[in-house]
Amino acid sequence: MKIAVVGTGYVGLVTGTCLAEVGNQVTCVDIDKAKVKMMRTKQVPIYEPDLENLFRRNIDEGRLRFTTSLKDGIADAAVIFLALPTPPTEDGSADLSYVLQVADNLGPLLKSYTVVVDKSTVPVGTSERVSKHLAKKAKVKFDVVSNPEFLREGFAVGDFMKPDRVVIGTNSNKARKLMKELYTPYVRQGNPIIFMDERSAEMTKYAANSFLATKISFMNEVANLAERVGANVDYVRLGIGADERIGKRFLFPGIGYGGSCFPKDVLALTQIAHEHDYDFKILEAVIDINERQRLRLVSKIMDYYGDDLESKVFAIWGLAFKPDTDDIREAPALTIIKELQTAGAKVVAYDPEAIPNVKKYFPGASNMVFAKDAYKALKGADALIIATEWSEFRTPDFELMSKQLKNPVIFDGRNLYDLDIIKTKGFYYSSIGREAIHG
Ligand code: NAD
Repeated sequence: MKIAVVGTGYVGLVTGTCLAEVGNQVTCVDIDKAKVKMMRTKQVPIYEPDLENLFRRNIDEGRLRFTTSLKDGIADAAVIFLALPTPPTEDGSADLSYVLQVADNLGPLLKSYTVVVDKSTVPVGTSERVSKHLAKKAKVKFDVVSNPEFLREGFAVGDFMKPDRVVIGTNSNKARKLMKELYTPYVRQGNPIIFMDERSAEMTKYAANSFLATKISFMNEVANLAERVGANVDYVRLGIGADERIGKRFLFPGIGYGGSCFPKDVLALTQIAHEHDYDFKILEAVIDINERQRLRLVSKIMDYYGDDLESKVFAIWGLAFKPDTDDIREAPALTIIKELQTAGAKVVAYDPEAIPNVKKYFPGASNMVFAKDAYKALKGADALIIATEWSEFRTPDFELMSKQLKNPVIFDGRNLYDLDIIKTKGFYYSSIGREAIHG
């Protein structure tokens, strides 16, 4: 099938590459000229495990190409995916200007019946709005389908190739048939393609992300209380997670959720609720808890050193919002760094993949030093802060850490170390939802 993907970011590039991988002819369109230039020279503009091989192979085999021209990119495409940004506006609602602008531009370019698939996360009713924008200048028939994306950064290729489920929102039989054909290669193990109307599909995406964010905030509350009552959240997590009604996943407490999806999607759903005069109380609480949790390590640091951090230097391990990605959007590490800088401290940071993005997009980066490896970051620092659970931090050389640090002090926002092990290493160690170890 001939397919176009408009917007070649984390979702669009993975979608385009994985659609090409099963034999489709895919053209990816992006307005970012530098990005398109990079991709044309076979460089992947983002860090996503397993993407590079697939990306190169499909370019080499002539199934994947890139353009900045919408007209050129969508020529003859039977299906056009929109994987455009929907960032939060000031009031928290999703900014649809990218999606609607492309719909306006697309209308007059359609030459025969086309299915336009919305993969961006958008408020309920957006499919109808996209249809109206397309219809302004379209001379042919088209259908707009809602096909929310559930891939996780860090596992995006696997999630696309073997999805738990595919959600398709459409009331058109023709579009339904085409979408089924397109997705059948990915659900050969029997995972469902779930068909529904457009509005329910749009709501499904927000409900899924909001539920997961609620699970995280709930566990963060349990962790904070565990510290006060002298319980160990590691045991509590195992104890409740073994109940299959609760499940083992997404029960890890930490320094709050981040990334380009949870914060904005939870906000957008509360905003949708406001617009319909509904007070979505749980979600309001989820947002408050998350904002407080992002500062949990900073309050622990200030309990330890006092409020004035003027002469202190902190090493930070991890800047990305989670491991296995270079995405720093809404990363808790950046909130922590800002707070430490405001309190007068200096920061030396290390992350395996995210440093270039931090240098580019984080305003506080000009006052920071970046280290080439994890241990170099520790040299002469008063303490280490762990903000992202990259696997290379999980079994470190504690002796070398002790030698490099001015004082053996760790504030761990991701509970990387077993308390029984860390007790033997001579560190002051403070984590989330567990007793502090006093060296
Ligand atoms: P992104 O910012 O990484 O990528 C968006 C791309 O669109 C960029 O490359 C940008 O240059 C391009 N673009 C902007 N305007 C354009 C235009 N007019 N024409 C062509 N290209 C244009 O965004 P993303 O993370 O891929 O997210 C895209 C959508 O998917 C969002 O709605 C997001 O909520 C949703 N989503 C994201 C994830 C995720 O993990 N990142 C997962 C599921 C759903």
